[in-house]
Amino acid sequence: MSKFLTEKYQRLKPYTPGEQPQDKKYLKLNTNESPFPPSPSACELARAELERTMLYPDPEQTRLAALLAETYDVEIDEVITTNGSDEALNFAFMAYCDDAHPPIFADITYGFYRVFADLYDLKKTILPLAVDFTVNIDDYVGQKGTVFIANPNAPTGIALAPSEIERLLASDRERIVVIDEAYVDFGAESCVPLTKKYDNLLVVGTFSKSRSMAGARLGYAIGSKELIGDLARIKYSTNPYNVNRMTAAMGIGALSDGDYFRKNCMSIMDARKYTAEALSSLGFEMTPSVSNFLFVKSDKIGGEQLYLALKERGVLVRHFKDPRISEYNRITIGSMEQMQTFVGIIKDIMENLK
Ligand SMILES: *Cc1c(COP(=O)(O)O)cnc(C)c1O
Repeated sequence: MSKFLTEKYQRLKPYTPGEQPQDKKYLKLNTNESPFPPSPSACELARAELERTMLYPDPEQTRLAALLAETYDVEIDEVITTNGSDEALNFAFMAYCDDAHPPIFADITYGFYRVFADLYDLKKTILPLAVDFTVNIDDYVGQKGTVFIANPNAPTGIALAPSEIERLLASDRERIVVIDEAYVDFGAESCVPLTKKYDNLLVVGTFSKSRSMAGARLGYAIGSKELIGDLARIKYSTNPYNVNRMTAAMGIGALSDGDYFRKNCMSIMDARKYTAEALSSLGFEMTPSVSNFLFVKSDKIGGEQLYLALKERGVLVRHFKDPRISEYNRITIGSMEQMQTFVGIIKDIMENLK
């Protein structure tokens, strides 16, 4: 840190991304990436776009927005594309949080909400999850501020039914609710249809997980025309060319290749079922995840101990130090083949404990 950094940033504790080691080849089950490459049509369109990078991209991303609108059955002015969904979340914090509207979120959820709240010097309202790690909507109903809910939640993988979110939306139409659907494609139900009925709902999505594009950085937000206009104001005040040409082309390719996307989501769900059954038979407990990861613990081995034992054997999973979840590890679901390897290794670890 230099002596020139302003005081408010000196205090800031940045988001800690999962490890992206460059030293050796790990079985990487720690950052919820897809084991499958992006759709071949996405890659082909991106390659063609390389030749046009002397020109700025379309700041409105009209073609991509039109395809997103068609895919999610909304109007084109009800979507905005962003540099990863983290940017959409950032815009939402900028647009909808201040002293009168503090951000409200769970104690155990996506770590970036805390970072954005601190970045903008906001007072936080943190609502603990229930003992079983579920979100109790009644805790949110009487709160004043702007609600952020990851649905399914991370790192638990547990999803709320849209009817529960609707109860929250209807309970105070003056309160904005942001639903982060990064993992919705692995078995949960989207709240996008509710944006037609509730102008206080913003749904945020990403191409990073189910569409295999984490490295391309593409996200979006869906909501009323007015909410999307708010986010556009912020985009045009920070970075109008937030989505680059290759990424936008990939997005168009990915959305056009729905079969590939659905096949990959099914494979992940199959591999999740296989892994959950194998871990249960080894005595692990886990939350009922409908995401591309499992959140697991065992009373035979500590959370950090398991993390280290796996790392030693070339497997990376995500361990969090937060005391409430320090006995757990979050395991990304890869391909069936990767998960068979993983199960073999974890069996070996558990057998060698005795
Ligand atoms: C991965 C993730 C995101 C961010 O993804 P981007 O790569 O920025 O699109 C947002 N929310 C949750 C809960 C996530 O797990």
